[in-house]
Amino acid sequence: MGFIVAMKTLDSSRAGVGAQGVGVAQGAIDECIKFAKGRIQFGQPITSFQAIQHMLADMQTQTEAARSLVYAVARMMDNGAKDFSRASAMAKLFATDTAMRVTIDAVQVMGGSGYMKEYPVEKMMRDAKILQIYEGTNQVQRNVIALDMIREANKNK
Ligand SMILES: Cc1cc2nc3c(=O)[nH]c(=O)nc-3n(C[C@H](O)[C@H](O)[C@H](O)COP(=O)(O)OP(=O)(O)OC[C@H]3O[C@@H](n4cnc5c(N)ncnc54)[C@H](O)[C@@H]3O)c2cc1C
Repeated sequence: MGFIVAMKTLDSSRAGVGAQGVGVAQGAIDECIKFAKGRIQFGQPITSFQAIQHMLADMQTQTEAARSLVYAVARMMDNGAKDFSRASAMAKLFATDTAMRVTIDAVQVMGGSGYMKEYPVEKMMRDAKILQIYEGTNQVQRNVIALDMIREANKNK
């Protein structure tokens, strides 16, 4: 019984780690756009460069997608769903992989300053890494998702 209780606890807590991922990603975006607006290179703010704009657009789009997955599993939990194991693993996997990608890009947008401890995004990048590891590594989330898909396919045979 202990193993089942532990697994069910992880189903709930993984959604929370997904929420941490969304928070870290959004925080990194907020910090880097604030910096980018004020950083002048070649006589203009770096936000006027399309290469920077496209990075910002991808970062925000990925973060919104992660936020939607986290809200979806939170709604399932609030509505008393019995089984949200796959949804929770998907939210944790996608939101924390997003946090990793977005924080790496936030450092890139800020250039050398992003790498320095004077700005918070280097810490956000390190924090994103542990989100991919604890509460079950993201490889394990993929196992959970795939096994649930296969279980469902076998049931519907
Ligand atoms: C800062 C921090 C805080 C933590 N807090 C907690 C906590 O509060 N409570 C708690 O219980 N634990 C906590 N942990 C432990 C954390 O949950 C584990 O580190 C994590 O589950 C990974 O286990 P491991 O370190 O033993 O890695 P391992 O299991 O040895 O994994 C090593 C690598 O092998 C891969 N791997 C392992 N098994 C498989 C598999 N079956 N299929 C595919 N790949 C696999 C992993 O994905 C990983 O890439 C914490 C860890 C850290 C660093």
